Amino acid sequence: MSTIRFKALESLINRAYEPVGPAIEKISDYYGKHVFGDIAMREYMSKEAFEKVQGAIVHGTQIEREIADQVASSMKAWAMNHGCTHYTHWFQPLNGATAEKHDAFFEPLPDGRAIENFSGSNLIQQEPDASSFPSGGIRNTFEARGYTAWDPTSPAFIISGTLCIPTIFVSYTGEALDFKTPLLKALHALDKAAVDVCQYFDKNVTKVSATLGWEQEYFLIDEALYHARPDLALTGRTLFGHSPAKGQQLEDHYFGSIPERANGYMRDFESECLRLGIPIKTRHNEVAPNQFECAPIFEEANLAVDHNQLLMDMMHKVARRHKFRVLLHEKPFAGINGSGKHNNWSMSTNTGKNLLSPGKTPKNNLQFLTFFISTVKAVHEHADLLRSAIASAGNDHRLGANEAPPAIISAFIGSQLTSVLDELEAKVKSGTKMTPDEKTELKLNIGKIPQILLDNTDRNRTSPFAFTGNKFEFRAVGSSANCSLAMTVLNTIMAQQLKEFKVEVDGLINKKKLDKDEAIFQVLRRYITESKNIRFEGNGYGDEWVKEAAKRGLNNFAKTPEALDAMISKKTIELYTSNDVMSHREIEARHEIQLEMYTKKIQIESRVMGELASNHIIPTALKYQNQVISNVKGLKDILDAAGFKKAASSQLEIINEISEHVTSIKKAVDAMIEARKSANKITDARKLAVAYCTKVQPYFEEIRYHSDKLELIVDDEMWSLPKYREMLFIN
Ligand code: ADP
Ligand code: MG
Repeated sequence: MSTIRFKALESLINRAYEPVGPAIEKISDYYGKHVFGDIAMREYMSKEAFEKVQGAIVHGTQIEREIADQVASSMKAWAMNHGCTHYTHWFQPLNGATAEKHDAFFEPLPDGRAIENFSGSNLIQQEPDASSFPSGGIRNTFEARGYTAWDPTSPAFIISGTLCIPTIFVSYTGEALDFKTPLLKALHALDKAAVDVCQYFDKNVTKVSATLGWEQEYFLIDEALYHARPDLALTGRTLFGHSPAKGQQLEDHYFGSIPERANGYMRDFESECLRLGIPIKTRHNEVAPNQFECAPIFEEANLAVDHNQLLMDMMHKVARRHKFRVLLHEKPFAGINGSGKHNNWSMSTNTGKNLLSPGKTPKNNLQFLTFFISTVKAVHEHADLLRSAIASAGNDHRLGANEAPPAIISAFIGSQLTSVLDELEAKVKSGTKMTPDEKTELKLNIGKIPQILLDNTDRNRTSPFAFTGNKFEFRAVGSSANCSLAMTVLNTIMAQQLKEFKVEVDGLINKKKLDKDEAIFQVLRRYITESKNIRFEGNGYGDEWVKEAAKRGLNNFAKTPEALDAMISKKTIELYTSNDVMSHREIEARHEIQLEMYTKKIQIESRVMGELASNHIIPTALKYQNQVISNVKGLKDILDAAGFKKAASSQLEIINEISEHVTSIKKAVDAMIEARKSANKITDARKLAVAYCTKVQPYFEEIRYHSDKLELIVDDEMWSLPKYREMLFIN
């Protein structure tokens, strides 16, 4: 009897959990209570300090040491009033997790007493040892120090009695070792470039912020079953498991009534998140069984990224209270949908205008069109870089797997906007001047469009980058990813595009003496023509699109190692360095880290696969085979030759089938181990990743195929790993 699996099932069935009662507190009563945001700052800080911090948030101005001391002491007072004893700098190293190192406020005094202390320098900078975080060769072995530095644009918050201060993380030599540093620089570049372009339309615009609203998909699984699946516990996904008789074909889970136990969990982690000021708003069942989604109201991009990282952390923590494990892997279960994280993105001005939402006046509409077409153009110019931003071992299982957008980057804009762009392309003739009436008509027509799109629920869900009425939705981001990767790319390419736009329009105004509108229309018209290739309105899941995209010359990088090449192309290096987002060295380092991450993930999966095949699957299959063999022997004892032949033929077939599958598994595991050994001799990071991708990983499928066949043959009571039907349908 297979004890682990049955014990897990038993404990699950006997699991007692609190039924979900009515909510006791109003959300508005506790929203943001654990954040040192505007309200707390006003209460605890002097007016001067408050204004200085606001200045740093909005304009990036420096905060002097004296003010930092004041801010620190008010933060400490606030935190201690909320029961904090410790503080930490909270940062996002390149291993994908969040990092913290707690220090107590307390300091002993010479006379044996102690006081609580937290100075401006504690707030501004910490010096964690950087040696165990990935640095891609940036950190010299003799200089392991790293620095964290306060990011005043993301407010401090409290988790479990610790004051957490969002920070960037850089090396001793000043190079970024985290996700936040380049993101902040990209957002700054976008701000500057977008403000310059907004000046054509509205002189009151002095600040443009990128906005991000993510949607987080995840699976829930009972803790006992999770522990009985070493593959899930070690790799985040199941490496084995035959599809259950019922999967998601009935589509009865999507938007269905949320199971009570899952609902209790959601309420719990959501309330923790709401206390942290994460404006979480939406929850629903997703397509696959035991798959769910949550989404907040959008926020400024840097804050939204921090909030997503915090949310993922909170989801893991709270899951344990409910005897669940949350799976953020992009593809935890074969044969059913994986999980993604849509990144809804736009830009908004200090005047309260969403730049991807047309207004009511012709002037606003031309501004909308400028930002809209520039986005499409930017995606066209840097499609490969965007693809690299979503590349990971986990996401390789999703992209192009008919459940998530394909690995080919394209943009969907809807039929109405398509016709606006077509019209613009046809009407604006380079070199000739439009009449004022023509210009007004064009601008007015634009205004009617997006509302139609916004109201139109039948949107294209197969596009990786879709315009949805007042924002673009980047849908190909992986569920476990740090959104910074995608956001850094998107905001940098947009900044670059807007800079080019400004130069071109100014050129036409100054050299060709065109009026402003005329110049803008002419540049936009050219952008429409030049970026046409990237626009695709059809079914992104279809094979025809793969062919069509190839004809158009669009790249289709199916696997991570090759997709990452765009990170270090000449074009990318030029883009990042000229926009002051990353240095050449930082770019190279990141590329190397991503490759290493990929290799390690595949390596771990391969080892777990080998172990499970050799220690679980083959032994179980042989045990069952022995049982069948004794049955055959018994039949032989009691029957004559003719009777035996009749009675034992199926058993003999089963014995043979088991032997065949076992042999195939054994052979493939041995070959996989050899492939790993020879791959491990490679020192070049890219070649190593490619070897793992093309020489090691292909064995997974074969090993799994035969193992899953055995799962169907072997007595259910003997099978040691929880089955898909158990993991997906018991809740
Ligand atoms: P769905 O994509 O599931 O149909 P919606 O389109 O209603 O859902 O919205 C998805 C997300 O888009 C939400 O998280 C929302 O906050 C975000 N969003 C809406 N407007 C903007 C914007 N201007 N900038 C960034 N995100 C936005
Ligand atoms: Mg969406």
